[in-house]
Amino acid sequence: MEERVREPDVAAGAGARAAALDEADPLRPLRDRFLLTDEVVAYLDGNSLGRPLQDTGERLERFARQRWGARLIRGWDEGWMAEPERLGDELGRVVLGAAPGQTVVGDSTSVLLYKAIRAALAARPGRDEVVLAAADFPTDRFLLQGIADETGARLVALDAPHDGGVEVDQVAEAVGERTAAVVLSHVAYRSAAVVDAAAVTAAAHAAGALTVWDLSHSVGALPLHLDDWRVDLAVGCSYKYLNGGPGAPAFLYARRDLLPALRQPVQGWMGAAEVFAMGERYEPDAGIRRFLSGTPPILAMRPIADMLALIDEAGIDAVRAKSSALTSFAIEWFDAELAPLGVRLASPRDPARRGSHVTIDHERFRDVVPALQRRGVIPDFRGPDGLRIGLSPLSTSFTELLTGLEAIREELTR
Ligand SMILES: *Cc1c(COP(=O)(O)O)cnc(C)c1O
Repeated sequence: MEERVREPDVAAGAGARAAALDEADPLRPLRDRFLLTDEVVAYLDGNSLGRPLQDTGERLERFARQRWGARLIRGWDEGWMAEPERLGDELGRVVLGAAPGQTVVGDSTSVLLYKAIRAALAARPGRDEVVLAAADFPTDRFLLQGIADETGARLVALDAPHDGGVEVDQVAEAVGERTAAVVLSHVAYRSAAVVDAAAVTAAAHAAGALTVWDLSHSVGALPLHLDDWRVDLAVGCSYKYLNGGPGAPAFLYARRDLLPALRQPVQGWMGAAEVFAMGERYEPDAGIRRFLSGTPPILAMRPIADMLALIDEAGIDAVRAKSSALTSFAIEWFDAELAPLGVRLASPRDPARRGSHVTIDHERFRDVVPALQRRGVIPDFRGPDGLRIGLSPLSTSFTELLTGLEAIREELTR
């Protein structure tokens, strides 16, 4: 459990503490690699859209001139064709804990989730139930509603506490011989609660079911060990902690030994065994490329590769350590300064059970958040009354976080 030292003068000493934490932060120099602007004084929404790197614009321009412009269609034979798997393997190595050949970069998270869930259902014929979290991110729930309509599957929704996540015991109780798949977010988008992916996967497997994980709020912020956890399928977003830019393509992981049994429903030419055979019938690629459908978004993949290199340089364990220190600092300050104002914590107190954001609730946050945004302090609002403090470990400093926290208090007491 987290150590809670509530000192009476936390606020008075907070500036000095934030400065000391920044001073001692081994990752601090890496913050300068990001594009920082004066107008934004506290960016607390890197969990929704990460900042660009300083040189992202220049690199994209160089790519447009030297690769796209100069090489033109030849670029496909000179590396672009292999890019979805190459970048997938790099994701596997740096942030997913996945051996090569199991990860591919392609469509949006929503589309890849759809493909993953349909593939899981198709791999478990005769089973017609899917377990999900009742409070999961809308796209996950909406996709499952659509898939239930299409396939006749029955949805089994698990409740979780407002400030927590789904527990392994709930999953163990919900799965059975009718369960085809368990579909969950690894880190809950609202509470930031971390689900025990290894234990849940084991519980699903014990019932003969597959797991599909949404890693959108964990990838790039905390270490993942998909191979060791025996995860079946996973998808994740690359514009949050992977700083890929607005609408950057998502990734999909599928465990190697399962691949031959996985068929996804969007059978496009780029997922076919022989892309340029122009044959009669669709035959899926033998490997992970079977999850592709159309032409890969090469341009949009480039910033992801640069951010991965930065995470590799920092080390994902050091990223996680800083993330925990940032969220712990936020909660300590919340206890001292915001709880007395009637603000409620809606995230787990145990840092081991918490992702890289902290959600706090207050009736006035719907109005406070736009007021904060006007002064360059940027968290986000999640209904009915939540303010999310997103802490992107490599681009956020403790001093920046404190500036944001103090502004929240000011707006609340105005
Ligand atoms: C951000 C997020 C997504 C994003 O889906 P898109 O298809 O990129 O819009 C999906 N699931 C979760 C849990 C998310 O947090």
